Amino acid sequence: MTPQAVLAIHGGAGEIVRGAFSSEAEREFRDALDAILEQGSRALAQGATALDVVTQAVVMLEDCPLFNAGRGAAYTSAGTHELDAAIMNGSTRAAGAVACVQGVRNPVLGARMVMEDSPHVLMVGEGATAFLRERGAIFEPESYFHSERRLAQLREAREKGVFGMLAEQEAGRIVPLLSPLDERTKMGTVGAVALDRNGRLASAASTGGLTNKLPGRVGDTPVIGAGCYADENVAVACTGMGEMFIRLGVAGGVAARIRHGGASLEAAVTEAIAEVGRLGGKGGLIAVDRAGGVILPFNSGGMYRGWTRSEGARHVAIYGDEDMAGRA
Ligand code: ASP
Repeated sequence: MTPQAVLAIHGGAGEIVRGAFSSEAEREFRDALDAILEQGSRALAQGATALDVVTQAVVMLEDCPLFNAGRGAAYTSAGTHELDAAIMNGSTRAAGAVACVQGVRNPVLGARMVMEDSPHVLMVGEGATAFLRERGAIFEPESYFHSERRLAQLREAREKGVFGMLAEQEAGRIVPLLSPLDERTKMGTVGAVALDRNGRLASAASTGGLTNKLPGRVGDTPVIGAGCYADENVAVACTGMGEMFIRLGVAGGVAARIRHGGASLEAAVTEAIAEVGRLGGKGGLIAVDRAGGVILPFNSGGMYRGWTRSEGARHVAIYGDEDMAGRA
């Protein structure tokens, strides 16, 4: 029997605690996630491919200024925006990614162009930007990516000498910034994973990276196997301190535990998040397996997240203490 199609999305993990927002702001986040799930579940019910559904979900997340990707991207230390994105088709293992691109309205569409229109998997910087221009990607002026909220985050990060949620200790070791871990210092990335009616899996992710990151810094999001991965068993998209996720190869590690170790989805992702924690990292992931199982674990205070099946309820949550039935 073909499993019911499923879509899971996230808008970033971080120390998102109750009381950090007004109820109006909280509703905006929930409504944005819900609208994306509604659109995705309709598309899945109409037979759309997992690849198209994750692409569309990430485009919508990128277009929404609330999330740190595309329009709402975080600032680098130079006051610019450098965008990273990736996409992977589980049934063919085709993948594409862009890193450090500037001015591209929807980096995930750029990642898809790399996957479909180039012989490469990962393209970066000016070469990637030129390729996307030539392929007809939409570009926006710097003002499109500007937001007072993100600029305030940059000023605060500069003052504190931190980037994203990371701080430099005297010993030179990178440790989590201890206080205040709140909405203003949260991490952020967006991602989507889906299983379609024909049992195909796909994953997509996009980010502005960490606030105050050095120009040229690339996180896990566009690194296939670190922040994004899909094969015939599982699709995974991560969020959190990218440096840790790269070092652990988190998304590919989940797939490997299932493929080679016969692990259950739950065991594979639980171990992956525990490993991130052991390195001192914070973050989370979303994953869908070929049986239609869905799981959205994280070890930070919260994660903007949601999931739905092609038929049935849409589930949206933000905080860590919200019961969402991790596995459906
Ligand atoms: N993983 C992203 C990065 O390191 C940031 C995030 O997910 O919050 O670029």
